[in-house]
Amino acid sequence: MSHVAVGVDIGGTMIKAAIVNEEGQILESRSAETPGTLKEFQSAIEAMITELTAIHPDVCGVGIGSKGIIDPSTTRVDVLPGTLHYLEGQNLAGLVRPSLPQQVPVAADNDARVTLVGEMTWGVARGCHDVIMLTLGTGVGGGIVVDGRIVRGSTGVAGHIGHYTINPDGPPCICGNRGCLETYFSARAIESEAFAAVHRGVATSLLCLERQPPSCADVFAAALGGDEIATGIIDRATAILSAAIAGLVLTLDPEFVIIGGQISAAGERFFEAIRKDVAVRTRLLLRRDVRVVPAALQNPSGVTGAAALVLFPAQYD
Ligand SMILES: [Zn+2]
Repeated sequence: MSHVAVGVDIGGTMIKAAIVNEEGQILESRSAETPGTLKEFQSAIEAMITELTAIHPDVCGVGIGSKGIIDPSTTRVDVLPGTLHYLEGQNLAGLVRPSLPQQVPVAADNDARVTLVGEMTWGVARGCHDVIMLTLGTGVGGGIVVDGRIVRGSTGVAGHIGHYTINPDGPPCICGNRGCLETYFSARAIESEAFAAVHRGVATSLLCLERQPPSCADVFAAALGGDEIATGIIDRATAILSAAIAGLVLTLDPEFVIIGGQISAAGERFFEAIRKDVAVRTRLLLRRDVRVVPAALQNPSGVTGAAALVLFPAQYD
């Protein structure tokens, strides 16, 4: 009989859980809006796991990916600013154990790192030794593989690419620094630019959308449709993202760069712009054009990667 596991993805807007098999396929899934309090969070997660394990009681474990800095040795949430702040200091294993039908391992790590584990297990990073991955969503997450191992750093923080400083005097970031990459390139940053443009009253098709304020996907769609304001917003943000990727590429010399997260659905034109810019910036030292490829795992890739933590613990270690 094939092994199955529960994968859980704890994000700033949604929490998701699914039963995932050894082939990385999602057999059953649940999701809910991210609750505002610890008590609501606990009941939401309990409901999801109880429903999923009622259908598949034979789960071999639970893997959890969460925003923030997670200690994989204890599953404790060490640092988590923002809407999920109430999870700080909590032991994630302790939160899910009461809903499980039997004693099984529970593993947890940072969400972007977990997504990279999914790509290493089933996706484009299979068998790779040196890879950088960025997850572009509400914020920017990152994961780094060097010599075939996920880089954790001395205190587990490594890979927070979204907090790479782009501008020393830039806007304040949720992490306490200023001018981080995700204050320039993230769904949140693009949406706030679009919001400002709409409020300045400039001529843009974004004004005509039924749903206001425009979402990040709306801005990408408008740019694709030739809207100049939307194109300007996307081009400026993408140029900053590409510069950051170029810096990382010259620091780590990866085989290639993987881009995942909801924004990676923006398509080939977005990828082409990044490839071109990163190549121009890095070609002379690299003596090649580094590949920038989309993640292979289907959405929600966070839950699939999380399940890999317990389905293939040896690989993740
Ligand atoms: Zn930051």
